[in-house]
Amino acid sequence: MQERVGFIGLGIMGRAMALNILKKGFPLTVWNRTPEKMEAIAREGAEKGANPADVARKVTVVCTCVGGPDDLLEVVAGPKGLLEGAQQRQGEHGPLLHVDFSTVSPEASQKVARLWEEAGGRFLEAPVTGGEKGAKEGTLTIMAGGHEEDFQRALPILEAVGERIHLIGPHGSGQLLKLIGNMIGGIALWGALEGLLLAERGGLPMDQVKEVLTHSSADSASLRLLLQRLESGRYHPGFPLKHRLKDFRLALREGERKGVPLPAAALVTQMYGSAFSMGLGEDDQTAVYPFFKERFLGFHPEEKKAR
Ligand code: NAP
Repeated sequence: MQERVGFIGLGIMGRAMALNILKKGFPLTVWNRTPEKMEAIAREGAEKGANPADVARKVTVVCTCVGGPDDLLEVVAGPKGLLEGAQQRQGEHGPLLHVDFSTVSPEASQKVARLWEEAGGRFLEAPVTGGEKGAKEGTLTIMAGGHEEDFQRALPILEAVGERIHLIGPHGSGQLLKLIGNMIGGIALWGALEGLLLAERGGLPMDQVKEVLTHSSADSASLRLLLQRLESGRYHPGFPLKHRLKDFRLALREGERKGVPLPAAALVTQMYGSAFSMGLGEDDQTAVYPFFKERFLGFHPEEKKAR
């Protein structure tokens, strides 16, 4: 039986992932809170749902890619949510499987798994990494958490959006790994940001800075991302700062729950937090660079020439 797929949350990641699922030939029903975002994919052949409950009634596997833990719980258990729709569903196609691609806390993911179990449905967490580029190209890395049989059932859909696909362990384990990865990448990005600001202020030739640093122990995906943004001068939102901050806060909570001190993460959380309070939440995480450069260091491109 071919799965009929639902997709909820057509943001930066979700819209690209949903399109790849559609391109693989799955019949697709979508829903987005801001309805205009459904138009582009509807033109490609997706059906528009009226709300999450409506999507749950129409499909056999429903995917979500929303914001944080509260957003996921709202879509699942809120009014006109997935659980409401699942109750009204005809059961001839077996239990509804919910695959969540969002980054949330392990705790929230485990709670959603319990809610589905009580409702007779199935749940697989499947947080992703690879950014907007990976979502568009269908090359995401996926770290799932849940039961093996649900993972196997979801696999053809996971393969439509990702390349490296792992079942890490029970519910919560995929989310914990995702938060750890984001924490390491986010600390590295802040390090790159400080280092490159110092290089610019020091008047160093940036092409050689790039060549040397990317062939030294300073190299990282975060450094390369920031260098690429500096070069292009484009800081469009690929990974909004609000999500970067959300993930750091969730990681800190996991550190507390498990008794692991995370002092570097705590400090960097405060730095991203201050950028957020200065209004950068909807901007890309790397937009902190030009902001700090101009607002705090008050220097401009001409300054380099003057040195
Ligand atoms: P985004 O562009 O902000 O999109 C979020 C989507 O979720 C939007 O469609 C939004 O609807 C919807 N949404 C949020 N809260 C909702 C709620 N309470 N009820 C219904 N819909 C809600 O975010 P994104 O970058 O695509 O990220 C989505 C998830 O993937 C996040 O958990 C993020 O941490 C994770 N992630 C992102 C990246 C990345 O590089 N961007 C990489 C890996 C993982 P509206 O359109 O109405 O706002």
